[in-house]
Amino acid sequence: MRPAVGIDLGTTNSAIAAVDSQGRPSILPNRFGEAVTPSVICFQDSEVIVGQPAKELQAAGDPHAAAFFKRQMSEPNYVFYAHGRDYSAVDLSACILSALKSDAEQALGKAVQRAVITVPAYFRNPQRQATIAAGRQAGLEVLQVINEPTAAAVAYGLDRSSPERTLLVYDLGGGTFDVTLLKLSPGEIRILTSDGDHELGGKDWDDRIVEFLASRFEEEFGDDPLGDLESLSDLLVRAEVVKKRLSTAQSAPISILHGGDRGRYELDRPTFEEITADLMERTVSLTMKALEDRGLQPEEVDEVLLVGGSTRMPMVHDFIQRSFGRPPSSGVNVDEAVALGAALTAARDPGRASRRPLLHLGGAVRTVEVTNHSLGMIAINEDRSAFINSIILPKNTPVPSQEVRPYQHRTRSGGNPLEIYMTQGESESPAEVTYLGKYVLHGIPANGSRVVVFDIEYSYDLSGTVQVAGSCGGRSLKLSVEDLPPDVPQRFLKPPEKTVESVHVTAYLAFDLSGSMSGQPLEEAQKAARSFLANTDLSHCSLGIIAFADSVRVKLKASQNARKIKRAIQGLSIGETGFGNMAQPFSEVRRLLARAEPPKFVITLADGVWADQDRAIQEARAAHAEGIESIAIGFGGADRSFLRAIASSDEASFFTSMNGLVETFSNIAQVLTHSQASHGSGNPSGSSFLGFLRRS
Ligand code: AMP
Repeated sequence: MRPAVGIDLGTTNSAIAAVDSQGRPSILPNRFGEAVTPSVICFQDSEVIVGQPAKELQAAGDPHAAAFFKRQMSEPNYVFYAHGRDYSAVDLSACILSALKSDAEQALGKAVQRAVITVPAYFRNPQRQATIAAGRQAGLEVLQVINEPTAAAVAYGLDRSSPERTLLVYDLGGGTFDVTLLKLSPGEIRILTSDGDHELGGKDWDDRIVEFLASRFEEEFGDDPLGDLESLSDLLVRAEVVKKRLSTAQSAPISILHGGDRGRYELDRPTFEEITADLMERTVSLTMKALEDRGLQPEEVDEVLLVGGSTRMPMVHDFIQRSFGRPPSSGVNVDEAVALGAALTAARDPGRASRRPLLHLGGAVRTVEVTNHSLGMIAINEDRSAFINSIILPKNTPVPSQEVRPYQHRTRSGGNPLEIYMTQGESESPAEVTYLGKYVLHGIPANGSRVVVFDIEYSYDLSGTVQVAGSCGGRSLKLSVEDLPPDVPQRFLKPPEKTVESVHVTAYLAFDLSGSMSGQPLEEAQKAARSFLANTDLSHCSLGIIAFADSVRVKLKASQNARKIKRAIQGLSIGETGFGNMAQPFSEVRRLLARAEPPKFVITLADGVWADQDRAIQEARAAHAEGIESIAIGFGGADRSFLRAIASSDEASFFTSMNGLVETFSNIAQVLTHSQASHGSGNPSGSSFLGFLRRS
């Protein structure tokens, strides 16, 4: 078997590693015998120079030298021009990968074809796919792209056997900052959350030194060295050297030669720390935010791992010591950790990582990664007044993962294609998300003037890249991914045109959370609510969640955001509204839905007898009179005649067993989706929907 290698394709530096026959990973040195290769390329007339010599040419001001292009990965507008040719960030990355590959072949004495490549955890789909494309262009079979912090944890995690530990990976490289929380348990390594800033890295610290010294020079000689490309390039190189010195020394000399004048200066560590304090503070606040996101205190972090050359700066160690009350872990070279972890992953057949132990860490361990960005699509909001980003697969869902959702579409004769704008990002505003592309589904069968319901499957694969597939009646639909029109996102910032098919359903799921729901009944109810959600077309429906027992609590006002809905379902707990059954949800639902257009629904789950049945019936009837359809589902100790009385009709009341809840809820969601589709805007009143319920 040809060896599989691990590659850390870094913004500033890259490294390649392989695992030996004993299962130990090691860095494969480049042609100069060095462990890391600067991610710099210089195009000469007939050859492409990569690594340290290119970095030196760049420092000398060579205009054909390219660096920091990883920041532009997948940017369509980025091109680097040299000797009559345009290079994209993928082309440039492919040059680096090619050089690493051939150096590794030299070091190993055999051909290298398969690789795991690492990416920052915040890389979105386009950048992950661009990384895979660069690997292919370099002649590599990319087994998987994995997140850098995961790779680092794999490298650091070797030989550790503690159960359940929370790790924080603080990764400050040359051009990026990443902070990631991971949970290490006997069965797995799981990323809890990841955040970062891809415009923050050691280079910014260098720039501060450059600015500081340039102003000192200007004060002294009256001439700004930054105006001259050669002086600036020289100063940048010197600044980096000084910065590295200051990691071990208290002060370091630096001289500037510009316009025939030489300025000699001494930079001490306190001054350096002062002029870069805000940069450091930015990493501190992102670190604290990551902890807050997961509700963790610094004391709850068992270990802090450092990755990236810039973590050698004492200010980073001081911050860790101060905030976490302990020094960071040591034992792995911060420049090598990511490549070593990638090599370990590559050696263990990542294609089967989700099914098979990935490495031994005092037991079988597999890595479970999570999505770092919510996946969504553009939809129309509840009152049809605006476009919103509707989240389908929330951030922090383990990968690989998939979600199948029903979707409605009105086809004309012969069927017209459906355009879906896929997004990544957390915001509901179309202006604040990244667009993955325009996905067009073809061949949706026509159904007269009616709306057709079909399924769209959204998935994240192991590499965190997004796949979309459509099917209708079990037949898969043809899908093409097209370039985004130039008026995206502007076209989504205007109100949508009113179309006949834009019927919007608003539904509240109301859960009786009295004491008898404790334990398995609540779990089943939550499962049922999740399956309701999975069968709901959120582009045409808003869902809200209500809890009631002795009092009523609105857990979530009607929303089209799957992440918020899931969180609200997860947050249902016994006792939050008391343990008895004094309350009923209908008065609250009437208030919430007073201004919503029909069709509007309340779907109530009851497991016992309510204290004030008469009032509940009275309020349910009043709700019905206001156009709200009431569906009642009971199990356990629920009273069937009471269910019939609070439901809008006999057919809208269901009695089932605890194990039947999931099926009942998902059936109702499906019927709502399909019946709404069949009626289009013809008669958007609740009673027509209930007709379907009856027949189902
Ligand atoms: P990486 O991208 O992880 O290779 O990190 C490269 C960055 O680490 C560059 O900005 C280097 O200047 C910085 N770096 C490397 N060694 C040191 C050091 N001893 N002290 C401070 N920064 C360093």
